[in-house]
Amino acid sequence: MNDCIFCKIVKGEIPCSKIYEDSNVLAFLDIKPINPGHTLVIPKKHFINVFDSAEEDWSSVMKAVRTVSFAVKKAVDADGLNIMSNNGINAGQVVMHAHTHIIPRLKDDCLKLWPGKDYREGEMDKIKHKIVSFLKE
Ligand code: AMP
Ligand code: ZN
Repeated sequence: MNDCIFCKIVKGEIPCSKIYEDSNVLAFLDIKPINPGHTLVIPKKHFINVFDSAEEDWSSVMKAVRTVSFAVKKAVDADGLNIMSNNGINAGQVVMHAHTHIIPRLKDDCLKLWPGKDYREGEMDKIKHKIVSFLKE
């Protein structure tokens, strides 16, 4: 995609702090980190998010996410990591090229994920059945 910022990073047209690269995947530091070491793992091939992905392409990214996670955790001596991707505008996706965030977490870093709601009576079971029915499609 010509106007995609992450495609431009893949092509080397704009710079990044590269962490890792293989034939399918690139990982680099997020320019606005939640904590130092916050890393983005992206497919080299342009697709928007999970809904636009081929299974093998998504899997390649997840494999790299695992590899990179160990190095990020050690590098910043993190207590743990949040591994997450925003899929869709209402899920907070701003860059429309698939990416997974590896976010180092430190004791008392004050990032609160996330406020849990309560189900209404019967709602949980109803939603469970609906999701399971779509899995059978
Ligand atoms: P999202 O809300 O999941 O789409 O997040 C996009 C992320 O990309 C944000 O955390 C941005 O800080 C990050 N980002 C945007 N442009 C760049 C860039 N040129 N280099 C590194 N990270 C970037
Ligand atoms: Zn792209």
